[in-house]
Amino acid sequence: MKMRRGLLLLSACFAILLTGSRGWADTSKLPQYDLNLTLDTAKHKADIRLLVTWTNTHTRPTKELVFNFYPHYRIPKGDLLHLAKTLELLRLNPSDGIDLHGRHGTLDRISHVASNGKTLTASTPLSFRFANDNPTAIIVDLPVEVGPGDSVTVDVEATIRLPNKQGRWGHWQGVSFLTNALPVVAYYDDVGWHAVPFIPWHQPWWNEAGQFKAIIRLPVEQKLACSAPVQSEIRLANNWKQITTESFIGRDFAILASADYVEHTLAVPLPNGQEITLKCLAFPKHDFYAKEILRIASEAIPVYAKWFGAVPNAQITYAESFFGWNGNECAGLVMIDERVFGMPHLATGYVEYLVSHETCHQWWYNLIGTNGYGETFMDEGAATYFTHRLLDRKHGKNNKMLNWPSGAGWLPNINRENYRNSSLYGAIRRNEMPAAAGDLPGFNHLVGLFSGAYDRGSKIFGMIEDRLGEDAFLDFTKGLVQKYSWKVFQAANLKAELEAYTGQKWDDFFDRWVYGKGITDWQVESVKLESPQQPKAFSHSTAINTRQRVSVIVRQTADYNEPTTLGFRMPGDKEYSIRVPVVHQGQPLKLDEHETVIETLRDGSIRIDLTLPAKPEQISIDPDRVLLDKNPANNVWKAEPRFSVVPLYTTLNENDLTTDYDRWNFGLGPWIGGALYPDPWYTRSTMLGARAGVYRTQIYSGGLYAAYRSDVRDVVIGADGLWDHWPLPKTQLGFSVEQRVAGPFSGNSGRDTATRAGLFSRYVFQYGSSFYLPPLHYAEVFSTYQDNFLPFARERVAGAVRPDWTYLSGLHYRLNLYTPYWDPECGVWVDATYGSGVTQLEQKAGLHQLRGELAAVKKLPWNLGPLTGTRVAGRFVAQGAFPQRGEFFALGGGTLFRGYDLGQRQGSVLWVANAELRLPLVRDVEWDMLDHTAGARNLWLAMFYDVGDVYTNGRSIGGVSHALGAGIRMDTALFSFIERVTLRFDVAKTINENTPFQFWFGVQHPF
Ligand SMILES: [Zn+2]
Repeated sequence: MKMRRGLLLLSACFAILLTGSRGWADTSKLPQYDLNLTLDTAKHKADIRLLVTWTNTHTRPTKELVFNFYPHYRIPKGDLLHLAKTLELLRLNPSDGIDLHGRHGTLDRISHVASNGKTLTASTPLSFRFANDNPTAIIVDLPVEVGPGDSVTVDVEATIRLPNKQGRWGHWQGVSFLTNALPVVAYYDDVGWHAVPFIPWHQPWWNEAGQFKAIIRLPVEQKLACSAPVQSEIRLANNWKQITTESFIGRDFAILASADYVEHTLAVPLPNGQEITLKCLAFPKHDFYAKEILRIASEAIPVYAKWFGAVPNAQITYAESFFGWNGNECAGLVMIDERVFGMPHLATGYVEYLVSHETCHQWWYNLIGTNGYGETFMDEGAATYFTHRLLDRKHGKNNKMLNWPSGAGWLPNINRENYRNSSLYGAIRRNEMPAAAGDLPGFNHLVGLFSGAYDRGSKIFGMIEDRLGEDAFLDFTKGLVQKYSWKVFQAANLKAELEAYTGQKWDDFFDRWVYGKGITDWQVESVKLESPQQPKAFSHSTAINTRQRVSVIVRQTADYNEPTTLGFRMPGDKEYSIRVPVVHQGQPLKLDEHETVIETLRDGSIRIDLTLPAKPEQISIDPDRVLLDKNPANNVWKAEPRFSVVPLYTTLNENDLTTDYDRWNFGLGPWIGGALYPDPWYTRSTMLGARAGVYRTQIYSGGLYAAYRSDVRDVVIGADGLWDHWPLPKTQLGFSVEQRVAGPFSGNSGRDTATRAGLFSRYVFQYGSSFYLPPLHYAEVFSTYQDNFLPFARERVAGAVRPDWTYLSGLHYRLNLYTPYWDPECGVWVDATYGSGVTQLEQKAGLHQLRGELAAVKKLPWNLGPLTGTRVAGRFVAQGAFPQRGEFFALGGGTLFRGYDLGQRQGSVLWVANAELRLPLVRDVEWDMLDHTAGARNLWLAMFYDVGDVYTNGRSIGGVSHALGAGIRMDTALFSFIERVTLRFDVAKTINENTPFQFWFGVQHPF
């Protein structure tokens, strides 16, 4: 459009100014690191000698040299739960990644060896200290001031122990890793030193690139993966070897080694004549993805090189490691988590997304440094944006990430845009959308960081492209990369460059999108089609003029009227081929193209009148979804819901990842479903039947069903629904109702009618990350009606009355801090309910019920040999109801007292205590099935003791019952790290009563 063209012309001149004729920035003044490292993989220790030369390139002199030395980090006690929940989000057992001791790095000595390149006759030991407010920042006192242009060289002697933990430094299953672990000089400018604290859940790096030369000694059988290419290798005595690397420029220097690595290599020629060597070091069992990763990288790199300019390093290495999250960028190297290598082969689409993203960081992090602590979006937003830009061009928008075999294409799939937007819309609906820029701790957690720095951050780059137009944007970007290569690029630089390039102020844009938290919500309010302009005489002919005058009113109802476009999809087209700009202005704007008139109306909405060659099929505002739009579903003229009929319908069809984020999703099919968690009114049974479901990301989920209910053995028709973030951002409103229509098909059930219904409204204090569990912490009010589902009790006391039905309204509170939720190694569980209502005994009677539950799990801290990691779990449950003659509760069941079934004893007062020992049988295995789509990871032997009693009319029904039992628990991973669940099989016997053995199958631990 016109506006764009104007900008383009303008930009062409500035482009020359920006890029000039210079190549990459001068690197001779970058810090120099001469590394001499001994990696003892048997003793799990690295001895480091590092000769560091730092040149002051700023005007401010300094008498201090400041290093970041991250292995000196120790997790503050108060951060433990937070970190454990972060690892849980990544589906990693907290104890595999959390190191309580920390402080694995020690600095033995720092000496002054040269000034301005002149070696001292004798090196002088320097005093150094860790900063009071930052335990990973080392402040070294220099004997002489380092003025502008001066340099100083120090010799750093350090030791890093490698803990048996997953992460950045440590060792795990034969891989030793040392990444972001070497001491690096902190960022310095005219203000002074900027040593930022270590944040274990992201990359807080803010430092200059360095020139590294490395000599690395390690046992001869170890295969090395490191940032730089190998120059030479010599054999040393005692089965050691010494590797010298080529000199290397990068933001860090990563070192990984394993005797099990197999090296794969691929040469990638670039159109500019440059040839890049790609290496992938992975376990032999992961050959498939090792080759795929090289293929994916080889397809991404030429495109990035075209967009950004030459590849920063001539070699990029991809190394398999263990760190819990999926991929991690280092300089010249990308770490890919072992669990990604272990994904089903049909998940190539996901791996492609991941590897393309991490590879993009070779420019946006390594070549162009950022303040990762305060402006994470400057690299994560860019990497996210350009990765989607790449994949949009490669596969089209919103491509499927799972490549199901033919015939299985109906299985739930994860489309790229749905994956990208699911957590973003969670943040928007919770009213927790952060700004893009801000210190890492301010994001509170990884989910906040993803919404702000990644999602919002990537939108910023998209909006810049939208404002500049494609050609100018790429020109601008290339200029930036050239100018800021091997430097640090800050948001202020981006703003200044945009202003220079366009000749316009960008304050509003930065205030809104970078530093602000606001959002837009454009919508198509109305569309009027005038009758086609056809001469009457020819109306029977279709070949004649079918020009269509269209009048569209659009409105923005959230915070900002960000300029956008209105797109028209014409019959037979897939894309919105006709586009007009949408901008607010005082005067009506007339464009020649399509006889367009754009006018801001008095109420703030915008009317666009134009003539189209035919009647449009669809009209959409912001058709490419460039903006951060609160409700993308109202951006279109006609709703286009997604319908699917599938041969198997499950909860996998009703979640944020597998449904379209910007529309209603309707699904229908044979169904297996039910809840995997207890609710205070009734826990929904596992059901088999048919379901028609409705889903809108972070807005609504519900359905109608007809199904066989396995716990009562009958057939019901039912409905359920949940309005999320309604009426308030952190509230939910839900219901479920079930009516028996056939059965029961076994003799022991209660009544002929078996209806139940529940309605609840909850306030969520803390959301969880599981796809199948309710929030971690919430309180709710509820109303419930249910017929008595309990089987008739076999043991009764005189005067006991079985209620026909109960109606109850009340309050429920739950706090679930079990971590990780699928197989807790620590945490507590608190659940409390109070309700009052009416019940039908021999006559109607007022009803009060109270229930409290307290449980805890703890991993034994001692080293117990093969039994290390054993967990103890305990719980106490108390329930009471009035009238006391009612048989409201059963002492029995697979999750309460496992020695009885539900028909043994029932009463109005009940208590149960459980103790359980969970002993490891097999740890950290990969017993996978169906091409790694599901697999066991840990197997536990549970030994338990349940004790409890139940009373009617204040009298114990048969005295205190004691049961002993044992069970097998299988910790299972679905799609490697997408979801985790524990399967349970328990056998129990009441030891002081002649009752049969009880067998229980279930999902999750019983408590
Ligand atoms: Zn990233």
